Amino acid sequence: MSLCIDLIDDALPQTQCRQCGYDGCRAYAQAIVEGAPINRCAPGGREGIARLAELTDRPVLELDPDYGHEAPFAVARIDATRCIGCRLCAVACPVGSITGAPKRLFAVIEETCTGCALCVAPCPMDCVELVELERSWTREDARRAREAYLTTQRLRSAMLSKKDAEKEHDDATKKAVLDDVMARVRAMMHPR
Ligand code: SF4
Ligand code: SF4
Ligand code: SF4
Repeated sequence: MSLCIDLIDDALPQTQCRQCGYDGCRAYAQAIVEGAPINRCAPGGREGIARLAELTDRPVLELDPDYGHEAPFAVARIDATRCIGCRLCAVACPVGSITGAPKRLFAVIEETCTGCALCVAPCPMDCVELVELERSWTREDARRAREAYLTTQRLRSAMLSKKDAEKEHDDATKKAVLDDVMARVRAMMHPR
C-alpha cells in the first residue's frame, strides 16, 4: 500500500506539540510513512491511533507511554500578576496564540490555543498554566491549527529574511565606508 504524507498529516491533531519526538505533525507523518510506529501521538489518543491504523493498514496499538498520556483538552493561561513581559512564551508558541508587547503583560488567545504546552517551560516566572476546557479537540480545530501554524511560520521566516537583508545592507555599507577610509589613508601615505 502506498502511503501519502498528506493523508497521514490530515489525521494528526496539528497541535505541533512535538510529544511524538518529531518536529511537528508533518514530520511525524513523514516518519510514519517511512515506518515509524503509529502510537506516539498523545493528543490524538486512541481515536487518532485507530485512524492511523486504518490509513496505514497496520494493527491498532496502545499509546506508547514513553510519548505521553491521553489528557483532556486544555488551553494555556497566563497569570497576569506575575508576568514580566519577557516574551519567551510568545516566541515558543507555534501558532501565534500569545499576544503582548515586550516588557508588558502577555496573554493567551484562548480561541486559537491548541494546548500544546510549548509555552509553559520557557516561562521564567512559572506563570503559564494549562486549564482544562469542557470540550474535545476536533478535526475542525486541527484544520484551523494547521492554517495558523503555517501562517505563523511564514510570517516568522519573512521577518527573519527581512532582518538578514537589513544586516547584509548594513554590512555592505560599513564595508564601503571602511574601504573609502582605507583608500584615503593610502593616498595620504603614498601621495603621487
Ligand atoms: S500533535 Fe501528535 S503528531 Fe503532532 S506534534 Fe504533537 S504528538 Fe506529534
Ligand atoms: S499558547 Fe501555549 S499552549 Fe497555546 S498554542 Fe501557544 S504555545 Fe501552545
Ligand atoms: S514567558 Fe512568562 S513572564 Fe515571560 S511574557 Fe510569557 S508569561 Fe510573561
